Amino acid sequence: MPELPEVETTRRGLAPHVEGRVITGVLLRRPDLRWPIPPEVAASLPGQRVLGVRRRAKYLLLDTAPGSALLHLGMSGMLRVLPAATPVETHDHVDIALDSGRVLRFTDPRRFGCLLWQPAGETHDLLQRLGPEPLSDDFHAQYLYQRSRDRKAPIKTFLMDQAVVVGVGNIYAAESLFRAGIAPGRAAGSISRERYARLVSAVKTILAHAITRGGTTLRDFLNPDGAPGYFEQELFVYGREGEACRTCGRTIRDGRMGNRATAWCGGCQT
Ligand SMILES: [Zn+2]
Repeated sequence: MPELPEVETTRRGLAPHVEGRVITGVLLRRPDLRWPIPPEVAASLPGQRVLGVRRRAKYLLLDTAPGSALLHLGMSGMLRVLPAATPVETHDHVDIALDSGRVLRFTDPRRFGCLLWQPAGETHDLLQRLGPEPLSDDFHAQYLYQRSRDRKAPIKTFLMDQAVVVGVGNIYAAESLFRAGIAPGRAAGSISRERYARLVSAVKTILAHAITRGGTTLRDFLNPDGAPGYFEQELFVYGREGEACRTCGRTIRDGRMGNRATAWCGGCQT
């Protein structure tokens, strides 16, 4: 599943090819993805210049004067900029044609992604009540500390709550908690400000690193293969249940928390 770093990498890859371009047509090969594609997408976009490509949480927004196309990659979605004549394959659901002679093609085998419409000056329901961006200055230790008081939920569940902070998926929550030395099951409200400072620092470092890693594949962006991801050999706990901790040698434990697989080291995390 594309996580925040992959979505940000996608945004950075798309922007130079899409920003400033005029949309010459929208081709919908089916009426829906996860949800129906609203009529404004095909009606309003043609003839408009793309003013910017933004990311909010794991959503991408293509801004134009009348409004923004709001895209989510879901479980298996992929956005590529391709020559218009590139042959269409089974799961290529949407083409947004650009005056450069290329198309922005949305491919999504499992169709958990979406393409929606946000009128200019409005905020789509899906983007309301979201917490701050993890790499922004609004995400800091004091914020998390205050937000967590009286919260009995495990810290990992709290950290993955999109209303608290967006885009910290399972991999990044597990790895950040390891780096900060915090056991994932500890009640969010019982964690000190100092430990939250370490956690915030860990989240920012790990996400920024993953985006940089993704960036290394940007040169291949115009090719139809592969989404960037976090390198397996850099993971300390995620996916390493039953293996030896790289730091202390104890066996990495596993369990479920908030219905998600959770891996941690009982020696390094307390
Ligand atoms: Zn350990």
